[in-house]
Amino acid sequence: MPEYDVLIVGGGPAGSTLAWSLLNNSATSDLKIAILDKQAFPRQKVCAGWVTPAVMQALAIDLDDYADGRVLQKIHGFEISMLGQKQVSSRFPGEPVSYGIRRFEFDDYLLKRCGAKLLLNQPFKKMEKTANGWRVNEQYRTKLVVGAGGHYCPVARAIGAKGVSELAVVAQEVEFEMNEAQKQVCTIDAEKPELFFTPDLMGYGWVFRKGDYLNIGLGREDKSRLSGHVKAFCEYLVAEGKIPADITDKYNGHAYLLYNHAMRKMVDDGVLLIGDSAGLAYPQSGEGIRPAVESAILAAQTLGDCKGNYSRENLEDYNERMQQRFGQRQPGPDLMERLPLWLKKAFASQLMKTRWFTKNVVVDKWFLQSHQDALTVVNKQ
Ligand SMILES: Cc1cc2nc3c(=O)[nH]c(=O)nc-3n(C[C@H](O)[C@H](O)[C@H](O)COP(=O)(O)OP(=O)(O)OC[C@H]3O[C@@H](n4cnc5c(N)ncnc54)[C@H](O)[C@@H]3O)c2cc1C
Repeated sequence: MPEYDVLIVGGGPAGSTLAWSLLNNSATSDLKIAILDKQAFPRQKVCAGWVTPAVMQALAIDLDDYADGRVLQKIHGFEISMLGQKQVSSRFPGEPVSYGIRRFEFDDYLLKRCGAKLLLNQPFKKMEKTANGWRVNEQYRTKLVVGAGGHYCPVARAIGAKGVSELAVVAQEVEFEMNEAQKQVCTIDAEKPELFFTPDLMGYGWVFRKGDYLNIGLGREDKSRLSGHVKAFCEYLVAEGKIPADITDKYNGHAYLLYNHAMRKMVDDGVLLIGDSAGLAYPQSGEGIRPAVESAILAAQTLGDCKGNYSRENLEDYNERMQQRFGQRQPGPDLMERLPLWLKKAFASQLMKTRWFTKNVVVDKWFLQSHQDALTVVNKQ
């Protein structure tokens, strides 16, 4: 039976970054690491594909190399509005403030370069405790199981994630390559994605052009009538002359937890969760790739200190690192959330019309997180 030190369930950005970080650090580079994923790669992934430069920096991605044969859309601004109100434009000259990637390409690139043994096309079925770790799927032995299987991660469930009772953001989107006629009609500036906050403050819609690809979607903190909201949003974009009318109505959906309210346990004896599996998306933007990557880097640091002993006590250090980086989780509503909805709506509607708020708060603070420096990996000498 093949034996590993670390078996990572899920080959998305969280899983591949953990393997890459461990194998690029001289203290952990001799670990035997495998990634198990139920899909073969490259695979489709429901995501707008917007990443900040901090992600590229943390992953030490050579942008010229990446752009060779893949979509890497430079972003220099945003159009922000409350749905139905006038849009406010913010522009950032100089270096790009974000990039548009296709997850089909991005995740495959990260996985192939990470250096772990890849066990693809194999769903996780079960994990059983052994004297010094786990037996997974009755096929593999490992000292540590890492849950990196996204929102519905089976490892998270195995250590107590409840699923249905959690307050998740639900989102639907479509991404497709435009034909010549569609490109003529589409008026979205590829360097300036457009974001539309819903007047009930439950979420936002986006339209994002990446080269010849168009990505349209909407996410809400409320499951009811999601498809209806998405349909109405697309009709609005067509009526405004922004997107072609002949787009598919087959949307793909997924969900994620926002960090502040997610209550998932992140470590247990011989188990650790990273990325969406731990519920880490930034509360205002829903950005999840950066927290997935950063949680993996912090997990790698913790594992380096564990020196092969992955007891719950030793893994607790990861909780502390996460709290330092992302703050304390709050089970209940915070001060802003306790304000009456009518008051928040009235304020939001006015603030969203101002250049100061849309640029400095919405874009700079909520979406670009520019107050947080990139995390980096200790490289092998
Ligand atoms: C509509 C939408 C739009 C989004 N847009 C953005 C965006 O623009 N920018 C951003 O930063 N974030 C965005 N996010 C969030 C982002 O997609 C996630 O936070 C990110 O993918 C988390 O990465 P991960 O590696 O934790 O999990 P994932 O990327 O979900 O990877 C999990 C992996 O686990 C595998 N897996 C799952 N179950 C099993 C199993 N049983 N056995 C084996 N393998 C399994 C899956 O096949 C998958 O490869 C968006 C999310 C949604 C839903």
